[in-house]
Amino acid sequence: MDEVDLLYQEMILDHNKNPRNFGELEDATHKAVGHNPLCGDHIEIFLKVKDGKVEDVKFKGVGCAISKASASIMTTVLKGKTLDEVKNLFEKFHNVLTSKPDEPVNTEELGKLAVFAGVREFPVRVKCATLAWHTLIEAIEKKDSVLTVE
Ligand code: ZN
Repeated sequence: MDEVDLLYQEMILDHNKNPRNFGELEDATHKAVGHNPLCGDHIEIFLKVKDGKVEDVKFKGVGCAISKASASIMTTVLKGKTLDEVKNLFEKFHNVLTSKPDEPVNTEELGKLAVFAGVREFPVRVKCATLAWHTLIEAIEKKDSVLTVE
């Protein structure tokens, strides 16, 4: 498969065109800004945490289809999860994206995020796909911060 087939699957194109949970969250308890200078992606994450769980999450920003779709899909899988569950999921997602292309992938535990597994064949795109997640973790760890991935 070529890059276009692997990366620009229907779900990615759909989320890029119609991003879910796009906008600002007025009563966010955590937020952070992430930049990916290599590609020009810029994403802002707004998170509302209540009783240790994600009650709501939104994002805004500009960037390539991969970064936007990744942020959009991320917002659809987080609600109701505890912060530990969120961090575990990110760890699994990150492990798959930084694994070797011929390593087997456990797509079941990734759910919808498995659509990004093909990104690992294109290392320059890995930062696009993980930017929203890195920014989310940054928001959870430190309130109100600006993150640049390099
Ligand atoms: Zn990008």
